[in-house]
Amino acid sequence: MSRGYKLLNHQRQIYSTDEPGTLGGYRPDRIYGRLDCPSALRHLAGGTYAKHRVFFADEPMAIAAGFRPCGVCLKDRYELWKSDPSALFTAVVKDA
Ligand SMILES: [Zn+2]
Repeated sequence: MSRGYKLLNHQRQIYSTDEPGTLGGYRPDRIYGRLDCPSALRHLAGGTYAKHRVFFADEPMAIAAGFRPCGVCLKDRYELWKSDPSALFTAVVKDA
């Protein structure tokens, strides 16, 4: 009953839920990645990143929200997105 997690939905609105997010995101650049992404952790350690950090329930939600994959921790996804963003959307969101 705590609703302890705040996630971003596909309209980029924050909502509260009991389920922790599975992916992290950087709002200004609309990038999503793994929670343990080395790039994200490095930026978090730098201090200014945390207030822009958002979380997603799953990957289709992140992509539907207009975020793109991180080039560090989601390299395969990133390459697909770079070559054809709509292909990534189709592959991930439509199958969800
Ligand atoms: Zn990453």
